[in-house]
Parts: sequence; C-alpha cells; structure tokens
Amino acid sequence: MTSRTGSAPRIDLHTHSTASDGTLPPADLVRAAATAGLDVLAITDHDTTAGWAPAVDALPPGLRLVRGAELSCRWSGTRPAVPLHLLAYLFDPEHPELVAELGRVRAAREERGERIVALLRADGIDVSWPDILARAGGGTVGRPHIAQALIRAGLVGSTREAFGPDWLGERYRLPKDDIDVFQAIHLVRSAGGVPVFAHPRATRRGRVVPDELIAELAAAGLAGLEADHEDHSPAEREHVRALAAELGLFVTGSSDFHGTHKTVQLGAFTTGADAYERIVAAGVTEVASG
Ligand code: AMP
Ligand code: FE
Ligand code: FE
Ligand code: ZN
Repeated sequence: MTSRTGSAPRIDLHTHSTASDGTLPPADLVRAAATAGLDVLAITDHDTTAGWAPAVDALPPGLRLVRGAELSCRWSGTRPAVPLHLLAYLFDPEHPELVAELGRVRAAREERGERIVALLRADGIDVSWPDILARAGGGTVGRPHIAQALIRAGLVGSTREAFGPDWLGERYRLPKDDIDVFQAIHLVRSAGGVPVFAHPRATRRGRVVPDELIAELAAAGLAGLEADHEDHSPAEREHVRALAAELGLFVTGSSDFHGTHKTVQLGAFTTGADAYERIVAAGVTEVASG
C-alpha cells in the first residue's frame, strides 16, 4: 500500500473521540486525521463502538478507517490484579457476548466513577457526579472526565496533574471491574477481530505485566504489540520490538490521541504498512474508505 502522494502511508491505529475520553466528536476526529495527512486512522474508544457510525458518515475522501475499540482488561496473576488495555480491530460489533461484556464494563466504569467522586466529596472536594456524567455526553466515562472536574474546580492545573499521586493516580484511584485479558482475547477472536496489546510496557502509568504473560497471550490469540507510544521510553520500545519478533507478533505505533485531554497529536507515532496489512487480512469487518 502507498499513500495518496506515493510515499509511505501514514497509519495511526489508536485514537479516542467523545465516544469515550477524547475531546473531538468522531466526525471531527476523521476530519482532523485527514488534515494531519494520515492515510489510515483507527478509532479505538474505550469499551465502545458508538463512534463507528458517525466516523464512517464523515469520512473525508482518501482516508481509510479501521473500526476498533480499546478494551479495559485485567490480569489476575498477581494481587492486586494488573489493569491493561487491549486494542481490538475490525471485529463484528454485534457479536452478542462481546456486546454484553462491553456494556458490563461501561456500567462498571460509571459505578467506579461515582465511588471516586464520593471519596473526593468525603474529603470536602466539591465535584458532582451527575455533572461529570452529563458532560461525558453519553460517551464511555473515565478518569479524564473526573480530571476535568478537578480542573474546573481549580484544584489542579492539568490532566497530567490530576493523574498525579495526590489525586486520581493514587489517593483517589479505585479499580474497576475489567475483563479478564484471556477472556477478552477469546471474545475479540470469536467476534472476528484482531487483538493488539496497547502500550504493554508503559511503566510510567503503573505496574506492567511480565513478558511470560505476553507469551501466554500470544499463544491464546494475541496478534500484535503496540511498541511506539508516547508512554514508552526508547528502551521500552526496543524491548517490545524484540519480544514481538521472538513471539511472531507484529508491532504497531500510534498516537493514542485524546484531543485536548492529552498533548500528543494525531500521527505522532505511526504503524508500518506490513502490520496494517496483517490486521486487514485477519479482521472480519471491512476497512471503510472515504
Ligand atoms: P480510566 O480508563 O478511567 O482508568 O482512565 C484511564 C485514562 O486516563 C487513559 O485512557 C488515558 O486517557 C488517561 N490517562 C491515564 N494516565 C494519564 C496521565 N498521566 N495523564 C493524562 N491522561 C492519563
Ligand atoms: Fe483514554
Ligand atoms: Fe490505553
Ligand atoms: Zn487509548
């Protein structure tokens, strides 16, 4: 595959819209991707496919859209369980068990969000759960929405600060009821999708899983590892690349764009055409073309 200009295609396979914790509506996200010069974009909102239809409807000419999601998972091999993210591409959005599980996780996110807000309020911090939920506008709610409430209240200056240890990163951090990662891989494969481990070595976000687990996940159907991501140091990126080569997995690189909830821009990291072709070949859903 080549780009419209004949040079190497620019492929960004991990982005968020207002269907979860991004700040651009899906239609604006695909337009921004074209403006940024991308040839392929994946929309991967947390635990939802709600952004797919509006993104497809607004697809600019020449842009291809990979429909996906980022599943909130956990590995229970250590206590407490380690939370992790699984990108899933080109799966059947009507697969009953997967639909049910995504709905369950979204409900668990709301329940956790409400409990976090209760903890904050118990300490005299004036944030309102109904207000946070309303502002999420029906999108999958997450800590970035609570972070915005802390910013509005003048308690922190940025999302980054809101994720610090005094706030949502530790003191007011609560686990949510995530999907067991082996079950998630099984569900994504059953739904005809392609599972890729998002930012698997992002130690700056918290605990990460051992390489031995990644080998087990590969045996269970994991297809790829996200290597180039802003939360990976150069050494971590190299480590992920070497592990992928050892396990016969492909590697991806992506921005994990969240609009103004993060500073990273669309296309800041990109995926090679070879990995993209492997995803397209393995997925049950067609890539949409503008
Ligand atoms: P949640 O899914 O509710 O647990 O919140 C996790 C989300 O918060 C991630 O998907 C990111 O969008 C965002 N996030 C996590 N860590 C940070 C950070 N240090 N700075 C800004 N956003 C973050
Ligand atoms: Fe997010
Ligand atoms: Fe993630
Ligand atoms: Zn993400």
